[in-house]
Amino acid sequence: MNSVEVLSKLKEIVGKDFASNKREDLFIYSHDPGASIPRPVDFVVMPKTTEEVQKIVQLANNEKIPIVPMGGGLTLSGLIIPVKGGIVLDMKRMDEILEINKFSRYALIEAGVTTGKLLTYLRENYPDLQPPIPDAPPSATIVGNVLIHGSGYLSQRYGDYGGLINGLEVILPNGEIAKFGSCALSDYWFGRGPIPDFIGLFISAFGTMGIITKLSIQLFAKPKKRDIVFGLMEDPEKIPDLLYKLTAIGIAEDVLLGMQDKPEWMKGYVFLMTYITGETQETLDEQVKILKKLYRKSGARFMKAPKKMHDLYLGRPIFAAGAADYRKGGGFEYVGAFMPLEKIPDAYKKGAEVSRKYGIPPTLGSRLIGETHTIVMFFSYSFNRADPKEMENARNALHETNKLALELGGIPWKAELDGQKLILEKMDPNYKYLLKTIRNTLDPNGIMNPGNWEII
Ligand SMILES: Cc1cc2nc3c(=O)[nH]c(=O)nc-3n(C[C@H](O)[C@H](O)[C@H](O)COP(=O)(O)OP(=O)(O)OC[C@H]3O[C@@H](n4cnc5c(N)ncnc54)[C@H](O)[C@@H]3O)c2cc1C
Repeated sequence: MNSVEVLSKLKEIVGKDFASNKREDLFIYSHDPGASIPRPVDFVVMPKTTEEVQKIVQLANNEKIPIVPMGGGLTLSGLIIPVKGGIVLDMKRMDEILEINKFSRYALIEAGVTTGKLLTYLRENYPDLQPPIPDAPPSATIVGNVLIHGSGYLSQRYGDYGGLINGLEVILPNGEIAKFGSCALSDYWFGRGPIPDFIGLFISAFGTMGIITKLSIQLFAKPKKRDIVFGLMEDPEKIPDLLYKLTAIGIAEDVLLGMQDKPEWMKGYVFLMTYITGETQETLDEQVKILKKLYRKSGARFMKAPKKMHDLYLGRPIFAAGAADYRKGGGFEYVGAFMPLEKIPDAYKKGAEVSRKYGIPPTLGSRLIGETHTIVMFFSYSFNRADPKEMENARNALHETNKLALELGGIPWKAELDGQKLILEKMDPNYKYLLKTIRNTLDPNGIMNPGNWEII
């Protein structure tokens, strides 16, 4: 088929308004908000139903056209810009919340449901329940976020969000529909076991293993009260011990740290934010006392934040987003890296050195995932999007940081192409062999986001 015929077939599947190959429509799909170089896209298509996704995948298979699934397109690391052209499958129209199971505490949603939509729906209809939500803009999808091992304000308590998936409906690369988790044999999407668990195959796969059309995500009891206890630590070497002790007492819901040269008052400190929750103000007050004591004993200072700042951070931490404002042009991208806690002092020190080397004000942060099982480290770089030299500079800084993360025993998170390549170079050969074999078996025509996780 030529491209006119492909477009006409796509329009037949989704309706004439929801498929395009016009340059003006494709422009935004060839970019993302990070430092990646734009890449060409041939078609964009916006399906409404699972059956439409299935037909698109079947067409792509017959014609050997690459497909890249996209939610909100907010990873910043170019994951939704096709490497080898083809179709961007924009999932935004599949935005139904299909079921909230109050007692088994899960939400069954379509792939295009945004974090903002689920949060609002629960606030209005199930005020006692809360979903796992990242600190990303509300147009990020739940599916896009959990599929990249996302994290947010519940991750200290409940782990990374990929672990909170109960079940998936997937269009496999051959166009077949498959269900994973309890939904494979039950009407209830309550969990992943006790059967062999394949859900991990689709997490951090960047759309290379199939297209998720439905997903069940765990929900959690929403505490009546929430607060933050701020602290300042001068010596990053003391962070592991503080976090070890902090998690042992089990009162944190989320723990964030940050080190920034701007604003000026933050320079020279690691900024601590421990989110606490409770049913009453008295419980919170008690926890604040415990934390103040712990901070003091661990070499940190309790910080009484001005009300405006306190309320701002309670609503949404703004480390990363704020970093974009340091330069004209509003660009920023970060290397996230999943790290062992003991390497965090080095990550702060060496991360700041990389930033300064490239003339970018250091903006570093981290968040606990689980007790101290993993800590995700953010090395953020701001740049002027209108200045190709600054973007190149940022890309070099990102490359150096990917290498640093690996040297420190960490793993770059939602890695862009460069990061993926570095990870694969270091990976156990039999892991790579299995990955390649599974992928080739599922997707013999190589249509699923080719160029990502490519093992030669
Ligand atoms: C200001 C800012 C702050 C951020 N803070 C956080 C944070 O605190 N925590 C956090 O986790 N992230 C954070 N991020 C990163 C961002 O939130 C996540 O990358 C985002 O949640 C991913 O969701 P998305 O809908 O944008 O996914 P996309 O970027 O559209 O997709 C992500 C990946 O999943 C694949 N994918 C998407 N949909 C499907 C599907 N249906 N089937 C198969 N594969 C699919 C895509 O191909 C891609 O590889 C932040 C981003 C910004 C801009």
